[in-house]
Amino acid sequence: MIPMDTLLKTPNKLEFLHPLHGYSEKFSNSCSSRVQNQDFRFGSKKPIVRWGKCGNLRASSSALLELVPEFKKENLDFELPLYDSSKGAVVDLAVVGGGPAGLAVAQQVSEAGLSVCAIDPNPRLIWPNNYGVWVDEFEAMDLLDCLDTTWSGAVVFIDDKTKKDLDRPYGRVNRKLLKSKMLQKCISNGVKFHQAKVIKVIHEETKSLLICNDGVTIQATVVLDATGFSRCLVQYDKLYNPGYQVAYGILAEVDEHPFDVDKMLFMDWRDSHLNNDMELKQRNCRIPTFLYAMPFSSTKIFLEETSLVARPGLRMDDIQERMVARLKHLGIRVKSIEEDEQCVIPMGGPLPVLPQRVVGIGGTAGMVHPSTGYMVARTLAAAPIVANSIVQCLGSDRGFSGGETSAQVWKDLWPIQRRRQREFFCFGMDILLKLDLPGTRRFFDAFFDLEPHYWHGFLSSRLFLPELIFFGLSLFSYASNTSRIEIMAKGTLPLVNMINNLVKDTE
Ligand SMILES: Cc1cc2nc3c(=O)[nH]c(=O)nc-3n(C[C@H](O)[C@H](O)[C@H](O)COP(=O)(O)OP(=O)(O)OC[C@H]3O[C@@H](n4cnc5c(N)ncnc54)[C@H](O)[C@@H]3O)c2cc1C
Repeated sequence: MIPMDTLLKTPNKLEFLHPLHGYSEKFSNSCSSRVQNQDFRFGSKKPIVRWGKCGNLRASSSALLELVPEFKKENLDFELPLYDSSKGAVVDLAVVGGGPAGLAVAQQVSEAGLSVCAIDPNPRLIWPNNYGVWVDEFEAMDLLDCLDTTWSGAVVFIDDKTKKDLDRPYGRVNRKLLKSKMLQKCISNGVKFHQAKVIKVIHEETKSLLICNDGVTIQATVVLDATGFSRCLVQYDKLYNPGYQVAYGILAEVDEHPFDVDKMLFMDWRDSHLNNDMELKQRNCRIPTFLYAMPFSSTKIFLEETSLVARPGLRMDDIQERMVARLKHLGIRVKSIEEDEQCVIPMGGPLPVLPQRVVGIGGTAGMVHPSTGYMVARTLAAAPIVANSIVQCLGSDRGFSGGETSAQVWKDLWPIQRRRQREFFCFGMDILLKLDLPGTRRFFDAFFDLEPHYWHGFLSSRLFLPELIFFGLSLFSYASNTSRIEIMAKGTLPLVNMINNLVKDTE
């Protein structure tokens, strides 16, 4: 069998090669548009969220995870009705960005009979990310048919001795089906599409003008920025200082793996795979990473080495090095890779200016869970709130202007109880940022011992402030004495900050 560290990538076909021999030649042939890892810095105003698919390798490294597949871009087979710029019509809503957030709103606003134009550089492209959600979250939105695999529960390894069984089903989103359904509904509701990037917005009194990179201008009463973490149009007026979740994932064909195919692996914090590399073990002790895995069968599995949150974010090559060591230790030998994902998710940080003329949803609107990095379910649940607000304002007899509509949408998207909830989640993130591996283990050991109502509610943004305080106290009471001292020592400053922010933020 091919050992991980002697593989060299060819598209979906793996060859034996000495780790360094022949590497640079093949690498440069296949990756002309790569982003050099060494040049990547976290914390810039607009972080790069998805790297070039093969821009993560160091020529000098010992052939670290070089078994990356050729990036396969798959388009959906839809005839999209196009926006006709020559007519100069003003649409009710222009949605910039065709990810889950943007399409969900486009679909729902058009359903009410308003005119919508959806703009994206690749509107038919299947979304690239591998989304995982808790099944109950999708069930609540009647989207169970959009999960292609479900697991009856999940497991968490705190360390070599402690394993937790989570009695909560988990699922993988069938992104092809979900996007197809949304596009289909958009088309039948009369949404028009424009394939381009928006580069600028100009606001006038009654409408906004969106300037695209192909020279076309789209006029709309309301503009929704759904461009994800690229935050194309939404404005921020405070220092943008998020934490970063960084992960490297592969959907792989393997000889075998040690995991139960009925359960997904939510977190594996074991570090015995690093026993032979003290330097790496110490790095992992300071800023730990865990394995997240979705076993689809005994030979097909999605494996993702993840840094939950760090500031600045961990380097991708560091994460890959840890993953190689872990897979080797677990006896997982990869035969081929179907997909890979390089994930950089900004977490926490300030909310955008509230309100502002451009409306936001999803990554642009601070909706990622600051303690977990999850967002898909929360965004899809928020889409009807945004859509209803737009429909009610633009459809009302009072004749709301674009500016008044945007103000109302922001108010409905971020009411005070949601802002307070987010503040608490940011407090959670601030504590996680300070924990090393032993501290993180103690934290999750107590977290998953909580009543399901609390840990489910925390992960799925269903707890609001009074309950969140109870959640915090319960977590404290379940924590070991060491953990309590740690929470008090490391959590006092974040707690004071949170209280300050809560006091300042009034209706
Ligand atoms: C690799 C990865 C894995 C993730 N996995 C999960 C997960 O398992 N579960 C979960 O809950 N969350 C996950 N997330 C977090 C989050 O849910 C996703 O990032 C999600 O895709 C965000 O949806 P969105 O619609 O806001 O933005 P996106 O999905 O990023 O969509 C934005 C769209 O806007 C377009 N766009 C960008 N700029 C412009 C422009 N100037 N003009 C026009 N269009 C533009 C882009 O082409 C893209 O189509 C993951 C994130 C990443 C990066």
